Order: sequence, then structure tokens, then C-alpha cells
Amino acid sequence: MLGAEGRAAEIFAARQRQIFCRTDRLFAILMALQWVAGVVAAFVISPRTWAGTSSQTHLHVWAAVLLGGAISSFPIFLTMVRPGRALTRHTIAVGQMLTAALLIHLTGGRIETHFHIFGSLAFLAFYRDWKVLVPATVVVGVDHLVRGIFWPQSVYGVLTASPWRSLEHAAWVVFEDVVLIKSCLQGVRDLWENARAQATLEILNHSVEQKVVERTAALQRSEERFRLLSASAPIGIFQTDASGQWGYTNEAWQTMSGQSSAAARGLGWSQVVHPEDRAAVLAAWQAAWQAGTEFSHEYRILRPDGTLRWLHARARASRSGDGNATGYVGAAEDITDRKGAEAEWKSAREAAEAANRSKSEFLANMSHEIRTPINGVVGMTELALDTDLTLEQREYLETVKVSADSLLTVINDILDFSKIEAGKVDMDHIAFDLQSNLHEVTRMLAARAHPKGLELVFHTAPEVPESVTGDPGRLRQILMNLASNAIKFTASGEVVLRAEVDSRSDEEVCLHFSVTDTGIGIPVEKQQSIFRPFEQADSSTTRRYGGTGLGLAISTRLVEMMGGSIWVESEPGHGATFHFTARFGVVKEAEIPRAPRPALNLYDLRVLIVDDNATNRRVLEQVVTNWRMRSTLVESGRAALAALERAAAAAEPFRLVLSDCQMPEMDGFELAARIRERPEFSAASIIMLTSAGVRGDGVRCRELGVAGYLTKPVHQSELLDTILTVLRLEPPDAELKPPVTRHSLRENTCRASILLAEDNPINQRVALRMLEKRGYQVTVAGNGKEALAALEKERFDLVLMDVQMPELGGLEAIAELRRREGAERHTGVIALTASAMKGDREECLAAGMDDYLAKPIKPDELYAALDQWIPRGT
Ligand code: ADP
Repeated sequence: MLGAEGRAAEIFAARQRQIFCRTDRLFAILMALQWVAGVVAAFVISPRTWAGTSSQTHLHVWAAVLLGGAISSFPIFLTMVRPGRALTRHTIAVGQMLTAALLIHLTGGRIETHFHIFGSLAFLAFYRDWKVLVPATVVVGVDHLVRGIFWPQSVYGVLTASPWRSLEHAAWVVFEDVVLIKSCLQGVRDLWENARAQATLEILNHSVEQKVVERTAALQRSEERFRLLSASAPIGIFQTDASGQWGYTNEAWQTMSGQSSAAARGLGWSQVVHPEDRAAVLAAWQAAWQAGTEFSHEYRILRPDGTLRWLHARARASRSGDGNATGYVGAAEDITDRKGAEAEWKSAREAAEAANRSKSEFLANMSHEIRTPINGVVGMTELALDTDLTLEQREYLETVKVSADSLLTVINDILDFSKIEAGKVDMDHIAFDLQSNLHEVTRMLAARAHPKGLELVFHTAPEVPESVTGDPGRLRQILMNLASNAIKFTASGEVVLRAEVDSRSDEEVCLHFSVTDTGIGIPVEKQQSIFRPFEQADSSTTRRYGGTGLGLAISTRLVEMMGGSIWVESEPGHGATFHFTARFGVVKEAEIPRAPRPALNLYDLRVLIVDDNATNRRVLEQVVTNWRMRSTLVESGRAALAALERAAAAAEPFRLVLSDCQMPEMDGFELAARIRERPEFSAASIIMLTSAGVRGDGVRCRELGVAGYLTKPVHQSELLDTILTVLRLEPPDAELKPPVTRHSLRENTCRASILLAEDNPINQRVALRMLEKRGYQVTVAGNGKEALAALEKERFDLVLMDVQMPELGGLEAIAELRRREGAERHTGVIALTASAMKGDREECLAAGMDDYLAKPIKPDELYAALDQWIPRGT
């Protein structure tokens, strides 16, 4: 390809030649016209010459015709045969100047005719070739000079002319030449510039065109690729215009839908959509393209051959550079197989769920069927144990109770574990009194620890909050599991429960609990596996100790649900410590309703704590120090008497003696007897703390003037109540009164009326005896109807309502009761139910119950619930 300069030269040459030819033609016509004009002028001015009377055609006429013809015809001839040549131009220049000379001559040298010369030179400049001016100028110069000398009349119209005149003419001609040459050169420069500009433009154009060609080819290749891909793709592909009308569809679409490409055009594709899905699909499609958003829809199509397929169509807007949607490109996938698999999976899941439901129902039924009779066994055995029995009878009944209890534990464990496994356990998030909860646990455990002579110690770090939010029942369950194991696997020594704060924030407190025993311990290799279900450290011990191997597995899951972790530290033969952490919500003090404590000033009151167990001494010390009492700790009866003597001598007698019952050498009773023998110790009231409640102890206490008698572990509030009651009894030894006990404390406070709605006569009797034992006034109703009738007649402080009763069940009865009460009243109602499945509690609460107790009813749980729900001060 030529460079820009070469191409410019080419263009320049072509233009120049064009100009030369055009100007040649111009002069050819001009010269022809001049010739005619010269002849006309000759005829007009002097057609004839006269010599006397005779005349003949004037020489001028001949000159005009012949000479003019000769001058003009050769250049015209050259124009025709050699247009654009230098020879032609120069001949024309000479011819034109000769024509001018002839015209001047014909007009007799008229000065006006001289202007023809200037005009002709100007015309010659049209060539833009200054060289043609040279022969023209030479012709003019020579003509003027020769004729000026020889025929001045012919050129100047005068007979004589100064030779300077020729020079003057020549000067004017040269002057014009200078102007014209300059203009010619300028014209050539312009021509060059134009040529160069055009050459650049052409090259630019050329490269642009080249690019267009390349791009077009690339586009064609890409389109070809797309077509190939689209044709071989296993999914249907379609394209639409900006208004969402379908245009292109690939072969797969045609195979998939059974619809031809032409039939799918516009909205034709919707014809194969299943009639039931069509409206929804079209609406989704319209909405998508109107909003310019993605379209994604699963729908059925009915192919022309009648078969049904499932499609998943997706489409996205394609956009132009300015962001406007130019159409959609979409893909449709045949998902019939997947849908089939989904349907199968769904029905399999439904079947599994149904199976699971029936398993749950079976468990619920089993739970109900087993718990109901056990309730009778446990309750009746407990009551029988409270009566006067021979030693043999007591032994038998205790065996019955232990067996029933362990049967219940096994059932509860299995049920609980299957519930947790099935994810059917929800954690409560209620505010509760942590301290009482923990004491409740130790109290429940005391019955197991004491027969083995184990010390059960409970220690809470001072910074542990009194109340938190969480699930008190589940926390109790974990502690019970761990502590029951500790008691089970410990033959002698102590079991210590500790609670401390692991970490805390404004919202949350993480508590660290531990249960330490002095039992058989766990081999290192078993310390992980025992947390798995049905795993026991040593199966031979299992036979000896019993158990299902589920307790720790359940505890592990529960701890995880409380956001904590569980682990064990143990050295075989030296006991074990189980640790766990659990997270609770922080409760603002104001949120917890608390019974007002009686105001009595215990400040600086002197108290003597007698216990051989150091941990117990520490706990008691901490408790009484919290109440700002002044304590002295001693580890034996003998030391206690010495301390009492010292105090009496210092005239600072002890007002209170808190003494353990079981101590080596001198036990609590002997100590009490020694104290009462000495009048100087009369200021001291004695409260006995025993780990094993033995029948007849009460009588001994009364005889010995012991003012209070409590079974360990002692709840702080209970101890405080006992201390306050005892100190108000003045003077301590004035009269022999029965000692203040846990029961008498309760009996003093409980005179509430309770309605018991229960259809089963055995359960009725069990509950009745438990309630009466605490001094409640109980009315019994055999079903929901009777209960409602009783509630109509009388006001009760609390109702215990069985859920499954004939005629009118508990849930229906409570609904009716709540309807009758409206917003004016609210009688506390606790549901009693033998099924303990997930959802029961929610169902009961939703129906209007205030609380829920699972059968068999345990006295401790029942009493705890009663304490909570019976209005204070009743
Ligand atoms: P179970 O006690 O019903 O067998 P657990 O899951 O509560 O089931 O305990 C699993 C096993 O862990 C027990 O069988 C026992 O071998 C071991 N174990 C648990 N706690 C202790 C403990 N405090 N001292 C010794 N071994 C223990």
C-alpha cells in the first residue's frame, strides 16, 4: 500500500490533470468564440478598403478569417488530441496571446483591446501552472516591441510611438504576471494540502473499513459459535425482543417442548405451558420483563404428544451500552426427573415423619401407661413409710420405693433421651431463683446421700447471682444426674456441689458448676466414652450400681443446649469431679418477685457453729455472715462447750448454737443435753442440723429443749425462717415445746384451700395425703364437670387439674373456667398429666393452665409448685 505522501502525490497529479484538461477545454471554446468575434469585428469595423471608388474586401477581414483561424485551430486541435499536456497548455498560451495581438490590430490598437491581454493572462492562471505565463508573456513582449517599432499604429493606434511605451506595457504585464504566479503557487499549495488531507482521510477510512471488516468477521464467528453451542446444548435456549416476545429458539427447546421454532414465536411458547400453570407463568414473565429483572420459574408443559414435563426456565435481560434492556436471553431445563425424585423424597419424608409421629405417640402412651401405676406405687409407699411400721415392713417398703424410683428413673431417662434425640426438647427461658433451685437439688439428693453416711455439701460462690433466666428444670436435671452418680459411686466421704461464675457480661452470665465425690473414680480411657449414650465405665460395676448409661449423654446434650460444655477430671480410686458450664440470662433484681423477709435485727448476734465437716462449717459461716451475725466455728461438741464457757465468762453469751447431729465422740443430742444442764448457757437457742432424719428425733429434741430441727441440706431462706422463729420464742427453755421443723414451718404458713380434680382413686388418695400432710384444705372432684361445679360454689386458692378425665377433660374444663372468670379473676390452676411428651406443657399453658406437673407426682415437686402458686400470706 502507498504511504500517505505517495497517495497525496497521486491525488495531486490527478487533480492537476483534471484542472489542465478542464482549462484546456475552456480555452478551446474561448478561442473558437474569439475567432468568430474577431471576424465579426473585422466586418463591422472595416469590411472593405477603398481605393477611390473601387473597393475590395479589407485586408483585416482576411486577416481575421484566415490568421484568426490559423491561430485558433491548432490549439483547439491539440486540446482534442492531447488534452492536459504541457505542450497543449503552452500552445494555447501562445495562441491566446496571438489572438490578443490580432484583436488589438483589428481594432486599430485601441487601448481597451489591450485589456484582452490581461484577461487572457488571468485565464491562463486557471492552469495554476505559472510556467504557461512565460511563453504568453514572451509573445506579448515580442509582439509589442516589434509592432511598436515597425507598426505602432497597429498596436497603439498612433503613427509614432515612443519605444518606452512598449516597455511600459511590458511592465504592466510583468506586474500581472507576478500576481498571477503568486496565485498559481498558492493554488498548487492548496491543491497539495487538499491532496494530503484526502490521502489521510482515505487511509483513515481504509483502516476503519478494515476494522469493520475484521469486527464483522469476528461477530460472524462468535455468532456461528453461539449457534453451534446453542444447537448442541442439552437445554432449551431462547431469545426475546425488548418487549418480551420470543424470537430465536434452539433445537433443544424444540425437542423439549415438541414445538416448532415458528410456533414458539411471540407468546406462542406459552401455548405448551400446562393450562393450570399458564396464568402464573405469564404473569411472572410479564412482571419480569416490565421490571427488567430476572425470570425464574418452574412449571409444567403439555407437549403436543400429550406427555407432561417439568421445566425450569430462567431468563436475564440483555442490555445495551446505555443500560436499556434490548431483550432477554433464557434457558429452559427439563427437570422432570428431579421433580420425580423430589416427590419420592417428599413421600419418603412424610412416611418417616408419620413413623416418627407414631413412635412419639407410642412413647407418650407408654409413658402414660407406666407412670400412672408407678405414681400409685411411689406415692403409696412414701405415705406408708410415714406410718408406724415394724422394722421388717419398713425394709420391704423401702425396697419397693427404691425399685419404683429406679424404674421411674430408667423410664424417664429413656423417654428423655429419645425426646432429645428427636430434637423435641425446648429450653425454657424464664426468670428463676437460682439459689432455691440449687438447694432444691441438694434437698432431693439428701435422701440418697444420708443413708450411705455421705456428707452432702453445697457451696455457692458469693458472686453467683440469686436469680437468672434459663431453664430451671433442665439445670436441676443435670445437677441431679451428676450428683446422683456421685452418690451412687461413692461409698464414704463427701459429695460437694459448687457453683461459681465463669464469666459474665451485662446480658449473660456463664456459670461453672462442679460435683466432686470421693468415690471409685473413672479410668482415664473411659473419661470420654462415658458421655456417649449407653456407655458405662465398667459393665461389672453397672450390675452393682445399676443405671442405664444415659444420664451423662442426656446431661451432655442439655449442657450443649445451654451453651456450655461438660467434662470430667478423675483419678481412679480417688473420686471424680464433673464440671459443666451453662449460660443464663442476667435478671434485674426488680424482675424477681420475692417474699418479704421478716425484719428482725440479727446484726452482731453471736452464733456458735458446731460441725465436724469443715466444708459444712464454711458454708454455714458464710451464710450467717451474710446476715451479719457473728460466728464462731468449732469442730466438736467438746470444743463447743469450751467456746460457750469462754463466751459466758466474757459476758458475751452465744444466742444461737447451730449444731450438726452426727459427730464423732459427742453427737448433737449429747451436746444439747450438756448445754441444757448449764444455766449459764440458757441464752443459747439450739438448732440441730441432721443429715439423716430418724424417727423419734423430734421427741428427743423436744425433751432436750432443742428449738429447731432441720434436715440437711438446708435452704438458706429456710434456715433464716427457722432462726427468726426460734429467736422469737422466749425464753428458749421456759417450756418444752415441739421443735421448729421444716414441716411445722410450712404448716404455720399453709392453710390454703385446694381443689383436686383427679379421676383415678389411687392417684386421688396419693395426692390428697400429700396435700393434707402440709395442712392444706382439699376438696376432691372426680372429673372436669365436678371441678367446675365446685369452683362455682367456692373460691379456691389453687386447683390441681388432671388432664385426662372422663366426661370433661382438664383442658376443656380449664377453657370453660377461664371463660367464666373473664378478666375479673384468675384462679391458679396446675395441670397434672401422665404423658410427658414435648408439646404437652405448651398445650396445657395455651389452654389456660398456669403450670404443669408430670405424674407420678413427687412430693418435692408438688410442694415447690404449691409454694410458687399459692398466693403468699394465705
Ligand atoms: P448410669 O449412671 O445410668 O450408668 P451415666 O451416663 O450417668 O449412666 O454414667 C455413665 C457411666 O459413667 C457410669 O456407668 C459410670 O461408669 C461412670 N460414672 C459416672 N459418674 C461417675 C462418678 N461420679 N464416679 C465414677 N464413675 C462415674
